[in-house]
Amino acid sequence: MLRTWRWTLPALLCAAAVVLPAFHPGPVARFPVAVAPPLLLLGVGLVGSRRAHPVERCGWRWISIGAGFLVVGFVIFHVLWLQQGHAVFPSLAEPFFAAGWLALIVGLYRWGRGAERTLLSDSVVLALGPGLVVLSQLVRPLLARADSVEIFVTAAFPLLDLVLLVMVVRLGLQGRMRIASVALISTGCGLLLVGDTLLTVLYRVTDTPLVYWFGAPTSIAVSLMAASGLVHPAGARYGTEFGDRIRLTLLPIAACVPPVALFLQGLAGHPVDWQLLGGGSVLMAVLITFRLRGALRTMGEQSRRLRREASTDHLTGLANRRSLAGDLDQVFAHQEFPRVAVILLDLDHFKAVNDRFGHERGDQVLQACSAAWAGVLHRRHPRSTLYRWGGEEFLALVHEVGVRDALSLAEALREATPIPNTVSAGVAVLRPGETTGDLLARADRELYRAKQSGRDRVCV
Ligand code: GH3
Ligand code: MG
Ligand code: MG
Repeated sequence: MLRTWRWTLPALLCAAAVVLPAFHPGPVARFPVAVAPPLLLLGVGLVGSRRAHPVERCGWRWISIGAGFLVVGFVIFHVLWLQQGHAVFPSLAEPFFAAGWLALIVGLYRWGRGAERTLLSDSVVLALGPGLVVLSQLVRPLLARADSVEIFVTAAFPLLDLVLLVMVVRLGLQGRMRIASVALISTGCGLLLVGDTLLTVLYRVTDTPLVYWFGAPTSIAVSLMAASGLVHPAGARYGTEFGDRIRLTLLPIAACVPPVALFLQGLAGHPVDWQLLGGGSVLMAVLITFRLRGALRTMGEQSRRLRREASTDHLTGLANRRSLAGDLDQVFAHQEFPRVAVILLDLDHFKAVNDRFGHERGDQVLQACSAAWAGVLHRRHPRSTLYRWGGEEFLALVHEVGVRDALSLAEALREATPIPNTVSAGVAVLRPGETTGDLLARADRELYRAKQSGRDRVCV
């Protein structure tokens, strides 16, 4: 039952908006048809602002405020119509309609909160590309012949419609709403755009007083927007964002529309709208460039993060074995005979720690030991680095040291090992003609010697 009227009520309003004025073109018959849709939207908005998901309530509040302004606007419009005996356009109702549109825009904007920033600029490109052509072809010629008040009304509403369209496209891209409500809201906003443009064109081009169904598109549009709330009273839902691939395909297409229109105008020998379409083309180029810059920046950040993660050991936060290879290459790239030493550290009987106290405790020991050694290393040789060589083995790469300093540093590291743990260390200082492989192998042999000769000692 509830499901049925969710669809039938807006459908009836849509039908009434088209059919009724044909039989009763006067303000008395038009009044309920014009006021009912925004009233419905007001109701939906009020329910939404109390019952929807907390994230979406604010959006619904703005939408109900917008609907309220529309109701007031329609009341004023019809009262003036009754008083004057003919429909007044533009009238005192116009500021209320504009305020209503603005509030709807804010409502849709709030619904899309939390979207990544690129979505907004993408939506601007997607809506503005074709929108500029509509403005240029239909609205702009009218501006040339309008007086100051009419200029405002003629230009302001299509512009507001465009912004509203941007918000709808953004919600659509964000996948924030279920498909049915997106379709209804999008159709509603599209109709607002069509209705406004049509109204402007019909009223200004044909000299007839306002045609009887001039308000129908607006009424239908508002009914559809209300229906979107009835279909999903919770309003905006989370969904999956449109993939970057679709977006990056649609963006250049939309961005090409204004320059192509400009080109066709020139080709056809029509006056070329260089201000709107030319300016719009520049704007599109700027937006797309910023979009690409943003995409490149994101890619750069991601690759930096990946590189950082790939060269860091998760448990201890130290550099890992992979990054040692790169660092050693760097050392050899800059000096022919670098004065470097490596100290290979291996915790004694560490397996017993795991066996006796558990793996988690073993992890804590690894963290504590590496922190203590890194502190000593940083104090004594700020340019040196401690790496996790693997398991319970660590390696210090020390620059500009001789055998004596390297030995004393290794002793300091051994002494800094948190009790009751002990460590064995093998030290090797690079000899002329040695490769990094030779150096590491020698340090490993020294470490083996330290283990063999009773552990908790340094061999060099
Ligand atoms: P030795 O004095 O001869 O070095 O004895 P050891 O027990 O330290 O050496 P062994 O190589 O037999 O054992 C090393 C142990 O280190 C085995 C493994 O379970 C443990 N281990 C390696 N990586 C981790 C780790 O990330 N966390 C923990 N908790 N244990 C680790
Ligand atoms: Mg070991
Ligand atoms: Mg060990």
